[in-house]
Amino acid sequence: MIKRVDHIASVVKNLDEAVELYERAFGLKPACIETLPEQGVKAALIPIGEQGEIELLEPIDAQSGVAKFLESRGEGIHHICLEVDDVDKELELLAAKGVGLIDKKGRPGLAGKVGFIHPKSMKGVLIELAQKV
Ligand code: ZN
Repeated sequence: MIKRVDHIASVVKNLDEAVELYERAFGLKPACIETLPEQGVKAALIPIGEQGEIELLEPIDAQSGVAKFLESRGEGIHHICLEVDDVDKELELLAAKGVGLIDKKGRPGLAGKVGFIHPKSMKGVLIELAQKV
């Protein structure tokens, strides 16, 4: 079951600069800043109110998908994350409906246990599913 929009993620060239901008412009502070080597990114999660977050991603590995995105499309919105109650079940249901997936099973991510749907299957939008753990 899809529960809500969890976060919207943006790719940036410089994470420190972007974090500073969100703080200066909106008074928003990151709840966490982490380096995720397996995903090739440095990431910040910025909570907004009670629910919903902005995720900022800076590529740290030139071979990563995020680095390729930044190179070809520039800074901007990278993906939308929807919270689900069971990420493995949702991925299985989507696969059964013929929706193309990047992840067949959930894996650890910044937002919990996560799995990505291929943007070619979603009209050009990369969608992440996240289950809180
Ligand atoms: Zn995300």
